[in-house]
Amino acid sequence: MTTDQIIQDITSKDISRIRTGACEIISFSQDKTKVLPLKVYRQLIIDKTNGLDMGGAFAPNKRFVDYALEIIDFHASDKGCPCSLYSDYKYECNNPNRERDKSNISISNVIRIENKWIDYYICKCLKCEQKFQAFEREGHYMWWEWKKV
Ligand SMILES: [Zn+2]
Repeated sequence: MTTDQIIQDITSKDISRIRTGACEIISFSQDKTKVLPLKVYRQLIIDKTNGLDMGGAFAPNKRFVDYALEIIDFHASDKGCPCSLYSDYKYECNNPNRERDKSNISISNVIRIENKWIDYYICKCLKCEQKFQAFEREGHYMWWEWKKV
């Protein structure tokens, strides 16, 4: 998706398209060169999504837009390594396997419960070497809680 497509989606006032646009931004949260062109649209995104009822059965869809805006703010204000976005914000869908596939982190171990279910992943940021435990949780959907180690 181009920046234009993302902005068209996220400002469309159509819940499904807003979510698509926001999740696209989230997918490249670690890539400053892709996030920075969105900086000039920050206020537009806020204005166009303000007060919309975005619904969400088990967790509010609004969190996708909120997190996308936090990602833009993070890069715009140069707050250090973006891997802090995994652990320091209220967003729970950063999948360690996908982050590894994008070469953002490495996974050195997977700790299991009773040799079956995944308890947590031991991960390391490939940019700054910060280590994390990413706990895998499952309720109505699967999510991850990242903690800096
Ligand atoms: Zn890092």
